[in-house]
Amino acid sequence: MASESNAAENGGVEEGATEPETALETARRQLDHAAEYLSLDQRIVERLRYPKKVHEVTIPIERDGGSVEVFTGYRAQHDSVRGPYKGGLRYHPEVTRDECVGLGMWMTWKCAVMDLPFGGAKGGVAVDPKALSADEKERLTRRFAQELRNVIGPKQDIPAPDMGTDSQTMAWLMDAYSMQEGETIPGVVTGKPPVVGGSEGRAEAPGRSVAIVTKLAREFYDHDLEGTTVAVQGYGSVGANAARLLDGWGATVVAVSDVNGAMYDPSGIDTSSVPSHEEEPEAVTEYAETVIPNGELLTLDVDVLIPAALGNVITEENADAVGADLVVEGSNGPTTSTADATLTERGIPIVPDILANAGGVTVSYFEWLQDINRRSWSLERVNDELETEMRAAWNAVRHEFERRDVTWRDAAYIVALSRIAEAHEARGLWP
Ligand code: GLU
Repeated sequence: MASESNAAENGGVEEGATEPETALETARRQLDHAAEYLSLDQRIVERLRYPKKVHEVTIPIERDGGSVEVFTGYRAQHDSVRGPYKGGLRYHPEVTRDECVGLGMWMTWKCAVMDLPFGGAKGGVAVDPKALSADEKERLTRRFAQELRNVIGPKQDIPAPDMGTDSQTMAWLMDAYSMQEGETIPGVVTGKPPVVGGSEGRAEAPGRSVAIVTKLAREFYDHDLEGTTVAVQGYGSVGANAARLLDGWGATVVAVSDVNGAMYDPSGIDTSSVPSHEEEPEAVTEYAETVIPNGELLTLDVDVLIPAALGNVITEENADAVGADLVVEGSNGPTTSTADATLTERGIPIVPDILANAGGVTVSYFEWLQDINRRSWSLERVNDELETEMRAAWNAVRHEFERRDVTWRDAAYIVALSRIAEAHEARGLWP
């Protein structure tokens, strides 16, 4: 089973998952902060602080033993001024309404910074997917699809994989939706297996975009990738793909980790010989000669640190100890606002999640186009077009970064917010 447990796509790291700040609080602070740079209509900014709708559903499923258990699921639809809502569905015990709203806001900015014709949404079920059998997970997914049926669709809202969900989850969702609609509708979700309308290259895309922007950022600061030292937290589809590509492009990956700890080798890790979370879950340390704690990985003296596991791992407690020259955010929301301010003060640039891991949703867009046209693209075409889109987004963000002398995060928000506000102004408030 092809697996994509996104964080943007998980990576099997759970250490450091304390919640010093909710995703919604971080997202709102970032919005308010970036809005200060733009002379935006304050009414639009106020609107964007709230989701358009949040759907909350209960999902009863029969456990394998015959008992019935009821789980709570959400779909937070933030903004759709630029197109249908878009964003992942996560299965994680800590999924809450507010988390979905905050992550949905990030999807709105992410799609806008990439100039995709989508808005933002996020959803999920508060459940520990590791505690479910495959059959139970299938029943949960099909029932969740049924509960969301009236509010999702290829022109309305298009879910995708996220933490704890994968291409198989998306195939079940598409099947349940299609069965009810009476026709096969592959465009209702993205991140499906290619055999049922998924795109080549989708599973690797978030990691690929992280690698591409790492390269562009190193070039911006006049450094070659050759010899650049990199530490990657999380070895799921984001972390492992980013690490392997960077390794292949000449960087020296000195540390990679999962929930059990980090493998550390200052002379460079052969990233292809370490199994990713999908290939062999939580096995990184079994292949390591030297193991260090996940917390220590974040403080290593490296050129680039890529947090690609959970959110909120760089916090006020450890921001002072981060030893990297550059942080590239692979997961969604790995840096709290306070930590962000500390790193900025210390002169450590952070390439934000909404740009760095946006390869996932960008190839989701390609998948949606392929589904609508009933015509699949080659892997080569997907990767070429992804590179083109990432470079275009990078250049737009770099332009604001240089012009306004702001952080990379603010520059990305400025690009995204300007596009969203312009669309709101053009469409107007009705009635
Ligand atoms: N869950 C992914 C993210 O956070 C992808 C969303 C999508 O493809 O719609 O970016």
